[in-house]
Amino acid sequence: MSLENTIAKLFALGADLSTRNAVRMALSLISEDEELTDQIYVELKNKAYKEDFAKIPAEKRAVFIPQCLRNIKECPAEFDSYGWKCTKCGKCVIGDIIEYGEKLGYRQFYITPGGSLVKKILKEKVPKGEIKAAIGIACWPELAEAAEKLAPLKIPLQAVPLLKAGCINTIVDIERVKDVLRIGIADGREKAELSASMVRKPAVS
Ligand code: SF4
Repeated sequence: MSLENTIAKLFALGADLSTRNAVRMALSLISEDEELTDQIYVELKNKAYKEDFAKIPAEKRAVFIPQCLRNIKECPAEFDSYGWKCTKCGKCVIGDIIEYGEKLGYRQFYITPGGSLVKKILKEKVPKGEIKAAIGIACWPELAEAAEKLAPLKIPLQAVPLLKAGCINTIVDIERVKDVLRIGIADGREKAELSASMVRKPAVS
């Protein structure tokens, strides 16, 4: 059964899908694979928060990018207290993501090794009003955990799963990332203009 069909079935049954545990229990009741828990939970949260996310200006949205997307053999980025500082060298997709985001008005990109630095950044910047929404790129379990933790902070999250997870050489669907970056900002015509204005560099990762 596809993810969409499974979600539709759970809705039709009136299942409680408000938490990860509730989703896990609902899946076990319909004898579906509980490994789908995080995917379903994240996709439901993406839908639930999309409207709120769309209202936040790009400069107040933080984009959290996992360091595993870097080309670790050739990346010239240096690490500081907010993560890796990408030089957009063209050796991985991160430079493309940042370049595209900057054209839309994004200013906050954090290439982090994991959740503890993300937590530190949120703790510092959310109370100051510098971060009011977030985009997270990560594996399903990390996204589900982030969605749980951000909900009480009232930070609308849009999550993008890695197509291939792991510690190195991970892969993300860059078109999906761009779609999320554009939420509430660019309509169809602007999307075409934006794509045309991007000078694509070969990404080696
Ligand atoms: S584009 Fe990728 S490899 Fe190049 S500096 Fe940025 S993160 Fe490193």
